[in-house]
Amino acid sequence: MVASEGFQSRIEIHLRMRPVNGVAVADYGLDHEEGTVEWVIPRQAAAGMHNHQREKYSFSFTGILGTESKQDEVFDSVAKKVVMGALDGYNGTIFAYGQTGSGKTYTITGGTERYVDRGLIPRALSLTFSEVAKRSEYTYQLHFSYMEIYNETGYDLLNPDHETKSLEDLPKVTMLEDEDNCFHLKNLSQHLATNEEEALNLLFVGDTNRMISATPMNLASSRSHCIFTVTVEARKAGEDTVRKSKLHLVDLAGSERVWKKGIDGQILKEAKYINLSLHYLEQVIIALQERSQGKPRHHIPYRNSMMTSVLRDSLGGNCLTVMIATVTVAQEQLEETISTCRFAQRVALVSNQVMLNEEVDPSMVIKRLKQEIKDLKEELHL
Ligand code: ADP
Ligand code: MG
Repeated sequence: MVASEGFQSRIEIHLRMRPVNGVAVADYGLDHEEGTVEWVIPRQAAAGMHNHQREKYSFSFTGILGTESKQDEVFDSVAKKVVMGALDGYNGTIFAYGQTGSGKTYTITGGTERYVDRGLIPRALSLTFSEVAKRSEYTYQLHFSYMEIYNETGYDLLNPDHETKSLEDLPKVTMLEDEDNCFHLKNLSQHLATNEEEALNLLFVGDTNRMISATPMNLASSRSHCIFTVTVEARKAGEDTVRKSKLHLVDLAGSERVWKKGIDGQILKEAKYINLSLHYLEQVIIALQERSQGKPRHHIPYRNSMMTSVLRDSLGGNCLTVMIATVTVAQEQLEETISTCRFAQRVALVSNQVMLNEEVDPSMVIKRLKQEIKDLKEELHL
């Protein structure tokens, strides 16, 4: 790796509010300039308080994408710089966090009906290939992978056997750790795509497989994480170095607290856990937050779950990371909305150390040396 100290960058947090049709919208104070939002929970007389007594919660964000925000706007303000960074050799991650139904999939992948509803992944692919075409002095190699993590088990969404085999019969994606503490994923296929259409097709195949595999698990689709990864390799003509970076686009499991059901299916009480791997994500974020506040904390528990292991660089490591907190503004969802905002405030304190991922490429050195020998031979008329 070329010596580089890199630069510190806080994880950016953006709030995206889903429009709610015909549902009473909660009372909230929004200040776009300041990036602040204030949720107000009206208190019930039944709770022993005066009728109009309210409780206020204020939160600050890097940016707020209100209910009227459009997909292209979200891409421009949140994702564009991360995609451009990945093409320049910087790791990037964009992840959506929020309760089920708050717009994570709509934001990351998009709506299925209309072109204008395309989400961040198709827009990122479009920008990537148009940018690559402009940079004629570089040779780019772009590989794509698409993984789903459910119950701490990884599945390759681009495994062609999805069509014929059930989920249990597919090889599981497993993690291998090398001597340098780097994780490698086994059984996760990497696909080369040379144009936007090929890459979009991979996304489509993965999304279809996600839907097929969701059927036996039924509710599982909201309990699984999906990570779409672009691995970028860029070589500049006449140079011996290669830039290698990764761009992760992540659609996390629903952040809602799980409610325990009784035998007759009635909801009994809130189980004390959130989706287990999101619980581990919280623990990693809390540890990183404490570290950023100068508390002596040497251990960050990445290894507790597959998702935090895979996203290790994205959280407190070498990566430009953006979180999109998705919320609905419906009154009855306010508790979850506030809990999403609270989590986002913690994430906002996490600092990453971003570095240019450039290294000497032996194959380029050999190529150059071979050319030099050839030139010399020609000069000497050998
Ligand atoms: P999640 O993935 O968080 O469970 P979805 O992305 O599936 O939620 O969104 C739930 C529903 O709301 C979908 O029908 C989706 O198309 C719609 N939706 C979400 N966000 C928006 C938005 N910003 N504008 C219009 N429709 C949206
Ligand atoms: Mg979803």
